[in-house]
Formats: sequence, C-alpha cells, structure tokens
Amino acid sequence: MLLMMLAGLAEPATASKQTQNICMSNLRVLQGAAEMYAMDSTTPLPVDSPTLQGELRRGDYLKQPVACPGPVFTFGTTRGYPGVMERLVPGAFVVRDPLASTPEYRLDPSGTVFCTFHGTVDTIPILAEAARERKYSRGALRIIDLLNIRSPIGELVLLGGLGALCLIASQVIRRLQA
Ligand SMILES: [Zn+2]
Repeated sequence: MLLMMLAGLAEPATASKQTQNICMSNLRVLQGAAEMYAMDSTTPLPVDSPTLQGELRRGDYLKQPVACPGPVFTFGTTRGYPGVMERLVPGAFVVRDPLASTPEYRLDPSGTVFCTFHGTVDTIPILAEAARERKYSRGALRIIDLLNIRSPIGELVLLGGLGALCLIASQVIRRLQA
C-alpha cells in the first residue's frame, strides 16, 4: 500500500483539465455565433440538428469548428500541482460514459446551444456533480476532496501523519498481543 502511494507520488504531474470548462467555453463561442446569425438572418438555424456548426461556418459566423472533449466529466486540478487523491484515486475525479456517443453541439427550441452530453452552460455543473455522485457516495467524495492536498509539502505532512498512525497502530497491536 505504502509502496503504491509512493509510486503514485513519483509519477509525473498530470494536471487534468476540466472537461466541463472546455465544453462550456465551446458553448459560449457557439452561442455568440448563433446570436449573431439570428440578428442577420431571416431563416432560423436548425433546431436539435447536428448541422448547427456547418450552418454557422457557412455564414462565416464561426471561424473554426469546436469539438467537445468527449463523454466524460473531470474534477481534477486545472492548473498547478494535482492533488494527492487525484493520483491515488483517479477514478473519483473522472466519470466517463463508455456507452455515450460522441457529443455534438445543437440548438434547442429556445435558441440555447447545448452539448448532447454535457447540456447547457447552466446545467453542466449540476450534471457533473450528479454524475460523480452516481459513481461515489457523497460521504466518500467529501473525504476524498478533503484529503486531496495540492502541495508537495502538504502531501508529505499527510503521508507522515499516515505513517505515524500506522506506527501507533502496530504498537497498539503488539501490546494487545503481548
Ligand atoms: Zn460537451
């Protein structure tokens, strides 16, 4: 166990980008483009259709197509040192839906752009939390997040504390056996 933890610490820092943030920024770009289009054009954009980006690009409202990072929610550190729990329990920071198809951006009847996997700018955080809580219990997540220390020194203190606990426990057991 301890060796596994140490191996985890030795791994290069792989700061996970928050998938939801990327999708949200794509949604904002597309929403702006769709609103520009609506101001200029008399023919409305197609509702709930995968052709949305094509239409926006054809009218030059969108310079480059944007792509959702995929059917996944991530909860890791976005910049800097990734937390210790992110490396020990990576599963608690990534919720992937292997059955979902590639997400697409579409327009809903009210004129709001949404991702077929992540939803709208407003609902993404709610869907993300719900997806994470479906995988892990709320209590477990609270402990994981609490222990997700994001500095090398904090990590050493945490590991030192765990080591001390192990030492105390082994002493107690030894005494009980004697
Ligand atoms: Zn998305």
